[in-house]
Amino acid sequence: MTVKRMAFPEDLRTSSDYLRMAVPLMIERKIPPTPYNYALWYAHVQQISPELSKALLEEFPRAGSYDQDKSESLFFEFFVKNYLPNNRKAQNFVVSILTQLAQAVSRNVKGTEAYGSALKDAMEIFDAAVDQQRIRDMLTQLLTDTATVETLNMEFQLELQSARVEVEKLRRELEESQYSARFDTLTKIANRRAFNDAFAQALGMPDDPTCLLLLDLDKFKVCNDTYGHLTGDRILEIVGGILGGFQSETIFVARYGGEEFAVIVKDSLAAAQDIAETIRQKVSAIHLTKKDTHDLIGVITVSIGVVLARVGETPEEIIGRADAALYRAKDQGRNRVVTDGVGDAV
Ligand code: GH3
Ligand code: MG
Ligand code: MG
Repeated sequence: MTVKRMAFPEDLRTSSDYLRMAVPLMIERKIPPTPYNYALWYAHVQQISPELSKALLEEFPRAGSYDQDKSESLFFEFFVKNYLPNNRKAQNFVVSILTQLAQAVSRNVKGTEAYGSALKDAMEIFDAAVDQQRIRDMLTQLLTDTATVETLNMEFQLELQSARVEVEKLRRELEESQYSARFDTLTKIANRRAFNDAFAQALGMPDDPTCLLLLDLDKFKVCNDTYGHLTGDRILEIVGGILGGFQSETIFVARYGGEEFAVIVKDSLAAAQDIAETIRQKVSAIHLTKKDTHDLIGVITVSIGVVLARVGETPEEIIGRADAALYRAKDQGRNRVVTDGVGDAV
């Protein structure tokens, strides 16, 4: 099981294709290329949300009339609320990119329209086949107009390119903010929020068993009081490193809070018990020395509650049983693994 990264549906290689697909749909419906509209139709051709596409096509049929309020409320409902995370900076950033693009699109459209009407005038004059001088003048004018449209197109391409660079920057920023919202910086493993998602995901795959380990460092308050909070942090970091080594397709490790950790094992109870026992041994083998005196810091141990999820059980019920097993481990003298309903008699 890997940690789910945000699926940002922007594929930069195809952004210009999306542009080419979105603009004709808007032109067909006489929808002005405002930032809101542009964002909506771009999102539609990207197929980011079936609800958005359905609402857009219903609200703006080909022969229908344009309603700005409808388009703005769709923009906020689908794009701002659902598409972007709740991040004002990111939203403003996207709106500014879209404004830039929309201006570029409308300049390009205007330029092309003017060029089209110049061509039409020219055709009329050629049809009339009047004097040579007028034809020569008209050809000169057409060459100038062609150059203007070419310049406009080039500018448009440059603007698209720079918007693409900014979109890529935004995508990275969003990914990073998503990453830091789901990871614990001290222990370098997933945090509780990511754990909740991973646990729900694991329970949503009922074909394979799901086991949960809840871990709590023993007498950690004493450790903090004796060696200081910074040493306590260092220990948490080391335990995070040990747990991180277990992360795999079938094992998800997280800092549950404070000096508590959780491990989801998508495997049998026996496999989960083995993992718990290995973790317990690895933690008790930590040899941390004081920086100044190099004195050995007392043994660090962990108590672990293990539980196999039952069919139809809620995450809270499973966590409750794992917690109860953990506290039996504490009661029985700490530094041990206790499985819910198995081997907890003393
Ligand atoms: P027990 O064996 O019963 O679990 O005893 P304990 O002392 O570990 O339990 P208790 O819940 O009383 O104390 C937990 C301690 O963990 C208290 C708190 O200061 C410490 N702690 C929680 N988060 C951190 C942290 O981020 N850094 C440090 N250094 N200590 C932390
Ligand atoms: Mg605790
Ligand atoms: Mg503790």
